[in-house]
This record gives sequence, C-alpha cells and structure tokens, in this order.
Amino acid sequence: MADATQNHRANSTPAGPSRRTLLRGAAVAGGALVTGAALGGGPARAEVEYDVVVVGAGAAGMTAALTAAKRGLRAVVVEKAPTFGGSAARSGAGIWIPNNEVILAAGVPDTPAKAAAYLARVVGGTVPVERQQAFLAAGPAMLSFVMRNSPLRFRFMEGYSDYYPEFPGGMPNGRSVEPDQLDGRVLGAELARLNPSYIPTPAGMVIFSADYKWLTLSAVNPKGTEVAALCLLRGTEAALRGEKPLTMGQALAGGLRAGLLAAGVPVWLNTPLVDLHLEGGRATGVVVSKNGTQTLIKATRGVIVGSGGFEHSAAMRAEFQRQPIGTSWTVGAKENTGDGIEAGERAGAALELMDDAWWGPAIPLPGEPYFCLAERTLPGCILVNGNGVRFVNEGAPYSDVVHVMYDRDTPAARHIPAWLIVDQQYRNRYLFKDVAPLLPLPASWYDSGAVHKAWTIEQLAQRIGVPQAALRGTVTRFNQFAVAGKDLDFHRGDSVYDRYYADPYVKPNPCLAPLWLPPFYAFKIVPGDLGTKGGMRTDARARVLRADGSVIPGLYAAGNASGAVMGHSYAGAGSTLGPAMTFGYVAANDIAGT
Ligand SMILES: Cc1cc2nc3c(=O)[nH]c(=O)nc-3n(C[C@H](O)[C@H](O)[C@H](O)COP(=O)(O)OP(=O)(O)OC[C@H]3O[C@@H](n4cnc5c(N)ncnc54)[C@H](O)[C@@H]3O)c2cc1C
Repeated sequence: MADATQNHRANSTPAGPSRRTLLRGAAVAGGALVTGAALGGGPARAEVEYDVVVVGAGAAGMTAALTAAKRGLRAVVVEKAPTFGGSAARSGAGIWIPNNEVILAAGVPDTPAKAAAYLARVVGGTVPVERQQAFLAAGPAMLSFVMRNSPLRFRFMEGYSDYYPEFPGGMPNGRSVEPDQLDGRVLGAELARLNPSYIPTPAGMVIFSADYKWLTLSAVNPKGTEVAALCLLRGTEAALRGEKPLTMGQALAGGLRAGLLAAGVPVWLNTPLVDLHLEGGRATGVVVSKNGTQTLIKATRGVIVGSGGFEHSAAMRAEFQRQPIGTSWTVGAKENTGDGIEAGERAGAALELMDDAWWGPAIPLPGEPYFCLAERTLPGCILVNGNGVRFVNEGAPYSDVVHVMYDRDTPAARHIPAWLIVDQQYRNRYLFKDVAPLLPLPASWYDSGAVHKAWTIEQLAQRIGVPQAALRGTVTRFNQFAVAGKDLDFHRGDSVYDRYYADPYVKPNPCLAPLWLPPFYAFKIVPGDLGTKGGMRTDARARVLRADGSVIPGLYAAGNASGAVMGHSYAGAGSTLGPAMTFGYVAANDIAGT
C-alpha cells in the first residue's frame, strides 16, 4: 500500500496554514536549539542532565526507562498527565509476544518460524521484514526482562485465538499473555497516581481479561457462573490479606512503575514535552514545561519518545484520517494528543500509518464511548448499514470491521454510523457492557440516541431511519443462516477467532442465533479506537528515520508515537502493547550498546 501520509498531503488542499503547519515550520534550522520561544513560551534554561530522557510514562516509556536503568544508564521519565500509565493503565493488558517463556511453559506449540510466517502474512508488505524480525527476536527477551526486574508476572490467555488463526503459523489457542494479579501496595503512595482503568472492576472482585469472555455468559453457562464466583473469591481473599489487588492495565502500569521505583528512576508527572532539543542534527535533550517554566533536560546518550498516539488531537485527526472522525469516539488516554509525533516531525522525522488506528466498533454512550467486543459477536445480533443491510462478519477482528465501515461509507450507503440490532432473547442471555441480562438499559442511553427500542423490526427501522423492508429482509435472511448454522454471506463463525466471544450452548453455530423475540434494540455503532497507530517511522533498532531513510541521531520512538510494526493489521490480543513494550526495550538497549 502507498504511504497514506504522502497520499493525504498530495490530495489535500487546506484553506490556509493550520496551527500544526505553522508549528511544523518552526522546526530546527541548522541544528539550532528548538526552544519554547518558537512556541510562544519563555526561553528554555538548562537545568538537569541524564543519560536518557524518556517521554511518556505509558507502556513503551516505562519499559524503556526500566531497561535503560538496568543497563546502568541514568534515566528520567517526563509525563504530561498528573498520573502515570497512559492508555496502558486503562487497558485490558493483553500482550501479544510469540515464543515468550510464559506461553512456552504453558505448552503452546510456538516456534520462531511459525511466528515469522504468521506476522509476515498478517502485515503484508507494509512493514520492513527487519522490523518484524526485531520485534519477534526481542519480544520474548523483553518479557523475561520485565519479569526479572519488576514485580510483574504474566499468565497465558488460553484459548484467545490469534486474530487470523487460519493463516500459516496462526495459533487457534492463542499466544497472548496478561499480567497476573499484583498487590498495589508495592507502589506505596504512588498507587494514588495510577491512571484509572477504562471500566472499573466491580467492587470486591478480581477480574482478568481472560475472564471477560466467561462473565458475559455467566447467566447461561456453568463455566461463566464458576468464573464469576472465582472473581469474587479472589477479591475476598485479597481483602482478607489486606491487599489492593490490581489486574489488567492497572497491574501492567503499576508493575512497571514499581520496577522504576525500585530502580530509582524518577518519573516527573505534570511535565509535558514541549519540544525536542537538537544540536548539530542530533537529539540531545527535551524541552519540558515544569511548574510553569520551560526547562531543558539534556540527554547525553539519547531521547526515547513514548508519548502515545494522537487520538485526542482534533487537528491531527482532521489532517490525516478519513472522515467522519473526531476525538469523542476514542477510549485512549486523553493526554495523547500527538505531542511527541509533532515534535519528531519538526525534528525531521518521517511519519507513517497516520491514517490508521487501533480501530474497533464503539457505541457513543453518554460520557464515554463503549468499545464493543463480545457484544457484536455473541449470537442474536447483526450489524447493518444505513440501508438496513449487513455488510461484514460481525465477529471479525475489530480493526477490520472499522476498515470496512470506512471503505464502504458512501452517500448512497452510509456505514457510519452502522447499527447493531439485537433481540430480547440476546438481552436475556448476555451481559451488555456492565448491564446484567434481563435488566433494562439505562435511560440515558436512550436519551442520547445511542440506543433505540421497538416492538417490531419495522418500528425499529423507522426509529433509526433505515428502510423497513430492507431491515426485515436482512433479519429474515440472517435467521435462515442462523437456523442452518452457516452464514453464507459473511461466514461468521467459520473462523476459530469468531468463536472466542460466542455462546457454546448455541447450536449448530455458537455465533449465530435468530432474532425473533421482541422487543428489538438498535445500538449506534461508530468507528472507535484504542488509540492511533501512526507516528514516527523507525528502524529495527527503534531509531527515528527521516524521509530519505537516514537516522536522526539520538532520537528513538516506541509505542503509538511510532508507526506500528503491525502495519494496517492486528495479529492477536495484545498487538499494541507487545510491540510498544518491545521497542521501548529495544531502544534503551540500543542506546546502552552504542
Ligand atoms: C480501554 C483500552 C483497552 C486496551 N486494551 C488493550 C489490550 O488488551 N492489549 C493491547 O495490546 N492494547 C490495548 N489497548 C491499547 C494500548 O493500551 C495502547 O496502544 C498502548 O498503551 C500504547 O502504548 P504507549 O506507550 O504508546 O502509549 P500510552 O500507554 O498511552 O502512554 C503514553 C504516555 O505518554 C504521555 N504523554 C502524552 N503526551 C505527552 C507529552 N507531551 N509529554 C509527556 N508525556 C506525554 C501520556 O500521558 C501517556 O501517559 C487498550 C487501550 C485502551 C484505552
């Protein structure tokens, strides 16, 4: 695929210079100091010096800083938010690292050859082979390193299939891990500064990401009930021990921060990067805003940018991404406004994959969008476009579903928004977000227009403005597929992946059930995301590259501040955190070794 950034620029005819364009113009000239003066602030003054300055206390940044410290380098982390953890702390913390020691010990039949074949097939030609190889080679070492140098331990997410298990080297039983339960007391007072999770765990329960699949089924499946009881038991046991149990992203960010505490690495909160500092074309520090003053932190060995994506930058979304898009459908951390990417661009970095994101269908609920996982895969639901017609395998990987929404969205056939249609039978059986089966949906969801309810399919069609006959025809055809157990249009349930969030008691196809029991519901579906995946182009050593392929000395990027090693795809659960942590580790090791 051609470089989306270049395409966009070639095709765009902006009315006038944007703030972004002006700032880009204020970039380094002849290796001059990029100061706050260029950005309207006061002059920067040199105050401190470290070997390595890491920007962002998220997954990539904290892993990088921990590595740097353990390699004997003096490292500091500067963080924009009043909390640490970024999106990583909000996340489910699935981590996709083929051939790591945890999955090998669990008996996963992975090999380097299988992983290489699979990743190559998933990312196609978009990502240089050397970067793929670097990720696969360093990933297992990174995970072992983190376990040796922090309180983090990981568990295999058994059964969470790779997203394309049928590809060569794909693993139907999965190769993802997630953090084990961590006692938050290891963080001491720092625990209060941990960025909260996206969806809080119900009080008294300890829940892993791998439990979620079963909790959605807890009303209809004995294993679901058993898992719900186990979550409560874990919570009770932790309370009796006086612990503050953390799991998922809370455990990941908390554990990495605990590692930094033990290694004596300072993390300066409320200290946003303002710009990179360059001398003679080399990145030799950063200008930050600290206590209202612009401060220069010199980095004698290197700067690692791990400041996340640009999901909350309306200007960058508008400039680089397909429309409609904004900043209200993402669930990423709100501080992720592309600051590091823009600073890198001013320093001469090439950008890539800027049109893409870690997409997923989301419901624009009041307050915060809801990123749909199991809800669109469980039997008894369909996704339809504005013409009332199905357009995708509802159980497909979430990124793929949104790519289809954008690809097919035309004035003649609106796919944004799309609608998730379910019946009462579905609502009687499955958890929906945090609403238990049978319980009514919150009134605010209806008031906001995110959900509609009607007693017939025709009435529902009318409420959401799609042709009544078309929606009726779609439901009738889908119901025939459900009874037969074969989705002849989109093959839902054919892949092992589709069956992960399914209902094993529904036969003959655990992903398919007819929609027949009124009332019926329609949930508005928009292109949500976990964050963006485009950023600075990097090489296999995580060094930032210019458009001509040359390296910007001293400058490294990892995580969503860099172009993703996954290209436009998504290999399995944890395809953003696994590479983010790995390239943070690679960057710090490269600095230590050169
Ligand atoms: C609800 C949710 C669930 C998710 N589940 C998963 C999952 O299970 N598996 C998976 O792989 N991925 C998941 N993700 C995505 C994953 O969390 C992110 O892609 C990942 O955290 C990116 O890592 P990062 O280090 O690049 O960014 P982040 O973890 O977001 O860290 C970036 C940090 O940089 C800081 N920052 C921003 N600007 C500046 C600045 N100017 N100066 C200093 N600091 C700055 C931010 O405040 C933030 O702390 C999920 C995300 C969300 C929101």
